Amino acid sequence: MADERVPRPGTERSWWLREALAAEEDSRPAPGLSGHVEADVAIVGGGYTGMWAAWFLSERAPDARIVLLERDICGGGPSGRNGGFVHGWWENVPDLARQYGPDAAVDIARAADEVVGGIGAWCEANGVDAWYTPAGYLRVNGFGIKRGDWTGTVEHLTQLGAGSELEPRSDTEVQAICASPAFRDGVFMRSAASIQPARLARGLRRALLKRGVGIFEGTRVRRLRAGPSGVQLETEGGTARAGQAILGLNAWAAGWPGFRLRTLAWGSYMVVTEPIPDRLAALGWTGGELLSDSRFTISYFRTTRDGRIAFGAGVGAAGFDGRIGDRFTHDAGAIQRVVANFRHLLPMLNDVRFEAAWGGPIDITADRFPEIGSRDGGRVHYAHGFAGNGAGPSRLAGRILAALADDPRHPLARLPIVGRRQRPFPPEPLRFIGARLVREALIRQDDALDAGRDPGLIVRALARLPRLLGYRLGH
Ligand SMILES: Cc1cc2nc3c(=O)[nH]c(=O)nc-3n(C[C@H](O)[C@H](O)[C@H](O)COP(=O)(O)OP(=O)(O)OC[C@H]3O[C@@H](n4cnc5c(N)ncnc54)[C@H](O)[C@@H]3O)c2cc1C
Repeated sequence: MADERVPRPGTERSWWLREALAAEEDSRPAPGLSGHVEADVAIVGGGYTGMWAAWFLSERAPDARIVLLERDICGGGPSGRNGGFVHGWWENVPDLARQYGPDAAVDIARAADEVVGGIGAWCEANGVDAWYTPAGYLRVNGFGIKRGDWTGTVEHLTQLGAGSELEPRSDTEVQAICASPAFRDGVFMRSAASIQPARLARGLRRALLKRGVGIFEGTRVRRLRAGPSGVQLETEGGTARAGQAILGLNAWAAGWPGFRLRTLAWGSYMVVTEPIPDRLAALGWTGGELLSDSRFTISYFRTTRDGRIAFGAGVGAAGFDGRIGDRFTHDAGAIQRVVANFRHLLPMLNDVRFEAAWGGPIDITADRFPEIGSRDGGRVHYAHGFAGNGAGPSRLAGRILAALADDPRHPLARLPIVGRRQRPFPPEPLRFIGARLVREALIRQDDALDAGRDPGLIVRALARLPRLLGYRLGH
């Protein structure tokens, strides 16, 4: 039964983006591309990835003519709609070590960790108030029967000399951060910050305009052709020719020639409550810490500057054939699931009103790390596949993309994650059917564990299937 008290998603832009646009002096969109424009580098996508790439490129090559083409407005995609959790990849070190070896794993995690302090420093230097709060990230065990899920990860990090990056927290220590009867033990990542995500996106846009980057909004690139003399991009209203192109497409890469089979789009949905500062104070949750549970279809929640809770979960549907349509923005069923998770994890806030709901696509690759590299003879550079964790790592991707365009011998351009081709997913309709079945199994498995039940043989087998086939999806 639909809960009438919960707003429908898809009726307006995310609460974050509306808040950020309302705070701007002039929030009119930049004009769309009409006619022809020439540039040294043309960037497709006005999310964090494309905008950080433009920023770092403009630092490395101040005279370069840079244009950025965005189908909506900058920050109109997930960069203006996400949970605002900024952290690197410490939790992923065991997976990185399996892939690249222990030393490279720590190097990659250190490079990714720059994003936490780097975003704060950038906001400070550029006068961008993105509500940056470096309060750390606590992952709690909300399951009835599973404890210490992350012990292996903490031990692994300790062996690699980075043990202090993840600290186990007892039940009592967890309660001191946020007193919910649903929380048990947890693990704390001190290097993490929260942001108002749309304010960062819009701040980047303003900084780029100030630097003279040519931004064209309402401009969808429908075709890209690369040849020996450069790259030609076609939009509905015009064309752009450039020496090189950078693609920051996020989940739209799943419909882009050349990336289709290696990217899967998946929905993540959020709600925001009415302001409840007194209730937060009663829970002791006043330090601004980011929280999540340890489900595969993760629930992530944090407070806002005005005393609300923004709460999301990766419970949306998988996409079909790379199409990014209404299923990623209008799925009322996904919002009901988000709200059910809210009530399970924060049962003492059962009476709190939700003021807005929204969703967006996240971009999944086989090993759930981004695919970053160059193609077409080094003329086209790309980064996507952040698996719903790109708010921080997109800054690293932007630095790498700028290096690939300007100096491919730079150490950043030679990090082992660069140039790694992801394993393909099965073709459609298998990909869609498989993703749907597995997603349902993962949600049911997590629901059963929450309730302290055995999920049953079929659900367990389906939830394990992707791992058996070599995809890093599921538990
Ligand atoms: C609900 C939700 C919550 C999330 N929460 C978190 C979180 O808390 N922490 C975290 O780390 N990550 C989170 N994420 C993921 C995070 O938002 C993304 O990883 C990050 O924004 C990626 O940035 P991007 O620039 O690559 O993508 P985007 O912001 O999606 O930018 C890509 C842009 O490309 C544009 N585009 C696509 N195709 C074309 C074309 N043909 N022509 C022109 N433009 C085009 C799109 O309109 C879009 O604006 C969340 C995502 C969602 C949906």
